Order: sequence, then structure tokens, then C-alpha cells
Amino acid sequence: MSESLHIVCPHCNTVNRVPSARLHMHPSCGKCGRPVFAGHPVELNAQTFAQQVSRSDIPVLVDFWAPWCGPCRSMAPAYAQAAQQLEPAVRVAKLNTEEAQELAARHAIRSIPTLALFHHGREVARQAGAMDAGSIVAWVRRHVG
Ligand code: ZN
Repeated sequence: MSESLHIVCPHCNTVNRVPSARLHMHPSCGKCGRPVFAGHPVELNAQTFAQQVSRSDIPVLVDFWAPWCGPCRSMAPAYAQAAQQLEPAVRVAKLNTEEAQELAARHAIRSIPTLALFHHGREVARQAGAMDAGSIVAWVRRHVG
């Protein structure tokens, strides 16, 4: 009865099939055995970004940030808190735009931090500027129903 969801392992990038009923039961990756939800934002690069965004059946929230950006660094604890509340319904990730400049340009990221929400490979919402944890969670829930 239970529907299966594709969940991309944040450690080895393998696409796992997780029954939706087991999503909340701390599922482990079938390949590397590590938890597919770590309870904190996953650091992506250009390659793992593509895999997470295109292969995940759950929405993927991405914080486009950079180490030199003060507001980005101040938002990091709030973002980590939001990850604890949003997972496992949403994959929470971050992308260092300094290291993935081409990808950031392709997604027309003009200011950071920018939060973008993807579902089935498509961007469904984006919001520029730092937010507190409650606002991040509320913003995401408004867009993922
Ligand atoms: Zn794995």
C-alpha cells in the first residue's frame, strides 16, 4: 500500500527507495548504511546538487550562500534549526556559490543568501535575504502544502 519515494543519500549520492510510511523512521542508505537524513543541512557541489534536485521525490530546499557573506553566516544556525523541523518531508541543503559559480549563474542567483525550493527538478519558489528559523519553515510549508 505504501508509496515509495526516491531519496538521494547525502553521503554517497545513491538514490534510495524509501516507503513513505518509513520516512520518519530514520532510514539508512542501502549502499553506504548511513542515515539518509542527517538532521542538518547537506553541503552540495555542482554534481550532488544536480542529483538531489533531479532525483529526489521530496522537495529540496537550497541555501545559496558564500563564506564571505556575513548575513549568510548569521543565518546558518537558523537554517540548521529549520532543517531539523523540515526533514524528512523536505531535503535541506546548501550550496557554496563561491565554489559553484557556474551553477549559481545558471540559476540567476543575484544576491545571497537566496533560498530556492525545488521539486521534481523544477524551481517552485525562491526568496532572497536572511530569515529566522520560523520564517524559513513557514515559507517552505507555504510552498509545499
Ligand atoms: Zn549512502
